[in-house]
Amino acid sequence: MNLGYFENTMIITVKGPLQKDRLGRTLPHEHVIETAPGFEDLFPEINHRNTVLEKAKKEFGELYELGIKSVVDTTTYDIGRDPEFLLALSEASGVNIICSTGCYFQITPAFSNQSEIEITKLFIREIEHGIGTSGIKPGVIKVATGSEGFTDITHKMFRAASKAHLETGIPITTHTWAQGETGLGQLEIFDGFGIDLSNVCIGHSDDSKDIKYLKKLCDSGAFVAFDKLYPIDRHGESPNIETRVENLAILIESGYSHCLFMSHDWSIYAPAFWPEMEEADRKKQNPYGYKFISMRVVPDLLDRSVEQQTIDQIMINNPAEFLNISK
Ligand SMILES: [Zn+2]
Repeated sequence: MNLGYFENTMIITVKGPLQKDRLGRTLPHEHVIETAPGFEDLFPEINHRNTVLEKAKKEFGELYELGIKSVVDTTTYDIGRDPEFLLALSEASGVNIICSTGCYFQITPAFSNQSEIEITKLFIREIEHGIGTSGIKPGVIKVATGSEGFTDITHKMFRAASKAHLETGIPITTHTWAQGETGLGQLEIFDGFGIDLSNVCIGHSDDSKDIKYLKKLCDSGAFVAFDKLYPIDRHGESPNIETRVENLAILIESGYSHCLFMSHDWSIYAPAFWPEMEEADRKKQNPYGYKFISMRVVPDLLDRSVEQQTIDQIMINNPAEFLNISK
């Protein structure tokens, strides 16, 4: 691993490097605004950047007061990542924000048609020199596969992400379709590159209710994210919030607290994913927003005799271990 320009062990936030022990209680998979690149200028009637920023400042301020000191924003460029927005939000609220390079699984042709070498270089350029001309550097590489599993294009993105990780040490966080157990195929790729899997987080794993699958992920050495922990009417096989918390408690009880994450995959405004009416319904069902874990899940776990120390491991130590670039 070439740590090159990083002089010490560090976590990279939008404000710059942060010592690992300063990270604090962390939500490792969230979003704030998710639209599309360029929408701010082209379609301000869809983007609403400034209104969302004001709302986000209020909500992140409350989050900080509640004890959440850091948030990973896993929004990639193609779903409207806005590093300056995140910097303004971090400065106003005091919450450390870690932003992402990488890409979503629905990839624009201008990007997907680049070669693996070119894509690797683009990821590394953002990590080493910053996003666009902002100077703001990402602290994670996000890559994703959809319900169909790997396509030629997403496979190429995972190979590029693996190479960018090996070059820079920046950890990799993923989007999976857990009901299809696609996390296992992702791990195979990373493993094939010889990546230490403690640098990898398999996202959206709580969409599976198969404990055997979840234990397989945990046994791999990767971090396993329960990152959709909020109440909403789920479709099909997707477990409801009660089952998710129950499964989390089973894994904790089985000795896996060292590799678990808790987050919401929440957003304040996401026209890329939620039509207006569904967005309103989502907020009605989860009026706590980013506070649901602190207000409801943590008390529930404590009621199940999970120790505070274990919760701290999941919410403080694990994200710090994962995000820290020197291991
Ligand atoms: Zn997400």
